[in-house]
Amino acid sequence: MKPAFDLTELFRAAWPGNAGEEARMEAAFAEKFRFSAAVFFPYGRTAIHALLRTMGWRNREIVVPAYTCVVVPHTVMLSGNRVSFVDCQADYFHPSAGQLADRLGPGAAMVVPTPLYGYPLDGEGYRQAIQERSPGVFVLYDAAQCFGLQEASGRFQFEDADAVLLALGVGKLLCSLTGGLMLFKDASLAKQVRAYRDRTFIPPTWGDAVAKWAYGAAVWAAFRNPVLVLTHFLEHKTSLLHTFTEDLYGKTGPSLPAGNNKQPTALQARLARLQLRRYPEIIKEKRRISSVYENLLQQEGFKLFPHRSTPTYAQFPLQVKARDPVMAALLDRGIQAGNLIDYSCPDLPGYEGSQGTCPNASQFGREMINLPNGPYMPPRDVERVVRAMVDIRQAQPDWFR
Ligand SMILES: *Cc1c(COP(=O)(O)O)cnc(C)c1O
Repeated sequence: MKPAFDLTELFRAAWPGNAGEEARMEAAFAEKFRFSAAVFFPYGRTAIHALLRTMGWRNREIVVPAYTCVVVPHTVMLSGNRVSFVDCQADYFHPSAGQLADRLGPGAAMVVPTPLYGYPLDGEGYRQAIQERSPGVFVLYDAAQCFGLQEASGRFQFEDADAVLLALGVGKLLCSLTGGLMLFKDASLAKQVRAYRDRTFIPPTWGDAVAKWAYGAAVWAAFRNPVLVLTHFLEHKTSLLHTFTEDLYGKTGPSLPAGNNKQPTALQARLARLQLRRYPEIIKEKRRISSVYENLLQQEGFKLFPHRSTPTYAQFPLQVKARDPVMAALLDRGIQAGNLIDYSCPDLPGYEGSQGTCPNASQFGREMINLPNGPYMPPRDVERVVRAMVDIRQAQPDWFR
């Protein structure tokens, strides 16, 4: 979990004279990913909420993967619609096209394909399943963790989507501190969603701008070194970063975070635009580090997740049998692994009716870890992480698969 901005960018973003920054940033993202328009929101989840409200849906069925960020089903519930969960494969954290097809049907209003961790879905299979089972369903790609992921043919995986969610919070590929962007195929729908936003969200104050800057500086300090234990310390011993924890993600039930009704500051819009310029470099870095992991881990006989095209590696996922002990043993060696999604959504409070329906997702929720792969991580740190994994496995073989 490293935000991919540096302190210089934060200072440049905070510089006065950024009126119109939001519109410039929206236009830059729409152009980069080849959609008609983009609309910037305080969080990714508020963008989904605004879309569902603008569509005017009530009690409609929204098809969402079980193993995904919980804010997505929460938002569907809070909008007054119903979540239909799709389980993932037994040996892969994405649903197969067949599993998706089984959940689709004439009743589905929207489907949310989610290339989690930046790993590609079976794009062709998904398109066919949607075409056959739910033609006309609204396709919202949740690209929060993949951004411009390409299929083997070179097309963007989300190219046919009606809308695309990009998340810009801490730990995403690009970061505007907090924020979410929705890309739209149909410019008139984008206009309606923007009008909804402008009616619903209030402008940030000067105080908000100062607070965001301070938050940015804290985030930058905490995530400077992706292997550093400092982040763990901050999360557990101080309240500085407490917004990262349960509160923000609402693991105790559907809710939206405080401040979700305020538009992001111009600083955030500007930071996102500066970040977008570095997008190719950030992806290149993620791929460089992750391919070192893949080579070394493969040599050591760890089971990796195969991919149909090169992932963008928002996170580097690895499945282990005993997650908490493995993470603790890594921490003893000064390495902070992540457990970004340590649950399956149907097993969380608020979804009692779906509990136990997605056993594969439940297993990934218990067993997945994310190895540190922040941009600019030096090769020797990657080697150090792999060596630590090998040592831990030698001492405790049953912690691993
Ligand atoms: C981060 C994320 C979101 C949206 O997050 P916000 O905190 O609301 O900006 C949505 N889906 C996935 C898969 C994510 O990782």
